[in-house]
Formats: sequence, structure tokens, C-alpha cells
Amino acid sequence: MMEQDMQEILFTPEALARRVKELADQITQDYAGKSPLIVGTLRGSFVFMADLVRQINLPLTVDFLSASSYGSGTESSGQVKLKLDLADDISGRDVLIIEDIVDSGNTLSKLLPELQKRGPASLKVCALLDKPERRVLPFQANYVGFTIPDAFVVGYGLDFDQHYRQLPYIGVLKPSVYE
Ligand code: 5GP
Repeated sequence: MMEQDMQEILFTPEALARRVKELADQITQDYAGKSPLIVGTLRGSFVFMADLVRQINLPLTVDFLSASSYGSGTESSGQVKLKLDLADDISGRDVLIIEDIVDSGNTLSKLLPELQKRGPASLKVCALLDKPERRVLPFQANYVGFTIPDAFVVGYGLDFDQHYRQLPYIGVLKPSVYE
């Protein structure tokens, strides 16, 4: 259940590595003199975040949270819950949220105001992928790896029903796999 389940490969490992390096360089410049707290949104961003932080040349710390959006289907429920909260206090910290993909915008447009209440020095978002056509609530990430059309993608951390996360590329799943 791997390559044969793909309709198309969108981003090869090499293309992902090149873009991740560019994002990391931009973040290194923008946060110069600071020690950002890099927050990964579990589980989808774990591969992207691991690659990204290793290219950021700053004294950073990491933390994780888990906000629920999708179950086993491919449609957002519209409700966002914190299933796992941050371990660290973010007040006074320069917080950079690492997200795998912004789709409807539900997750981040509801999560960010909650985190803002905790008094971070700054709060920004770096999303590997953006599907602006799918937006239900307005949301724009500060850093975006790639803008993609409306298709369900997997790999490089992204799942379908918890599978495919370990693929080193990002691909579009054949509709027959989930229909
Ligand atoms: P939003 O709240 O913006 O609708 O969705 C955010 C979350 O939905 C993402 O963090 C991701 O977990 C999931 N998601 C949205 N689009 C896709 C997609 O094309 N593929 C996968 N695997 N997950 C997606």
C-alpha cells in the first residue's frame, strides 16, 4: 500500500529538502538574536519539523501540541480541540507554530487566539503546504512551503487513516483508496 496507491507524486524528497532549507534560512534571518520556541502540531508536522529545525541556525527550543481536526475521513469537522497541550509556558516567547498543511483554516484560526491569550512575545505560523481554494475561515500562514490545488495529499508526515506518514515524498492518493 504505497507507490501503487499514488495518483501522482507532487514533491520529491529533493524538492522538499530544497524548500525546507529556504524556509529555514528565512526563519534564521527573521529571528536573528532571538531564541524561538518551535511548536510542532502533532502528528502531521513531525517529519517537516524534524527536517526544518536541523537547518535553523538559532538557539531554539521545541514543544508539541495536538489539535484535533480530521478523524479517519478527509473532511474537517469544524470543531477544534486541544488533545495535547504544550509542556512549556509560552509567555514572553517567540513562538513559531509548525503546521503540515492549512486546508479549511479551521484548526489555526481557532487555535491561535487561544495561544495568544498566554502572552507570547510573538506568534507566527510556518506551514509546509497551503490549499487556499479550500479555505472556510480566513487564515494566512507567515511562511508557506508550497501552495497546492485542492487534492488530498499524503506522505512526509501527512496521513490517510494514520498510514503513509513515512513516505519520503508528498503524493496525491488515488481517490479509489479512500472512496
Ligand atoms: P484545516 O483545519 O486547515 O482544515 O486542516 C488542518 C489539518 O487537516 C492539517 O493539519 C492536516 O492534518 C489535515 N489535512 C488537511 N488537508 C489534508 C490533506 O490533503 N492531506 C492530509 N493527509 N491531511 C490534511
